Amino acid sequence: MSDVRHRTGWVEVITGPMFSGKSEELIRRLRRVEIARQRLQTFKPAIDDRFHATDIVSHNQQRMPGETVASSAEILARVDEATEVVGIDEGQFFDQDLVEVCNILAKQGKRVIVAGLDQDYRGRPFGPMPAMMAAAEYVTKQLAICVICGNPANHTQRLTGSRAQIQVGAQGLYEARCRCCFQAPPDESPSA
Ligand SMILES: [Zn+2]
Repeated sequence: MSDVRHRTGWVEVITGPMFSGKSEELIRRLRRVEIARQRLQTFKPAIDDRFHATDIVSHNQQRMPGETVASSAEILARVDEATEVVGIDEGQFFDQDLVEVCNILAKQGKRVIVAGLDQDYRGRPFGPMPAMMAAAEYVTKQLAICVICGNPANHTQRLTGSRAQIQVGAQGLYEARCRCCFQAPPDESPSA
């Protein structure tokens, strides 16, 4: 028998509503990776261009250089063999294959850190994030502060009437709400 173990990787998820500091926390972890001089690549989906075309940027303007990809398969294609840590922001905007991509990277021995919204503006599970949380070894769920009552906030309230699940933006379009102050939009079942 050998005592030699696999150089194991793992998956970390950072989730919660908007304004809960997910990107800040992702950037904090990635900065420590840089300090440790580990090889790092970061990705975000092409849809999110509100701040910068490629950088990962938090609401308080911290930033990390990143690569923009059109699909989760493109992450797999772009990760170098020598990369030790993979950071992914706005995970909710990726396709369902994100889970398998992260599993493959972790099996290769890499540390994978995914940040993303767990619920959309209606309070429904958002994209691949629920499955991502199930697959992850470590899940950090963050809360924001309800702008109405000041309690911890688990929901993202959309302030406009748009019915699209994805409406990229931040201040002015959305705010954080606790479960009591959150108002799900009226039922939008398609008319016959
Ligand atoms: Zn509240």
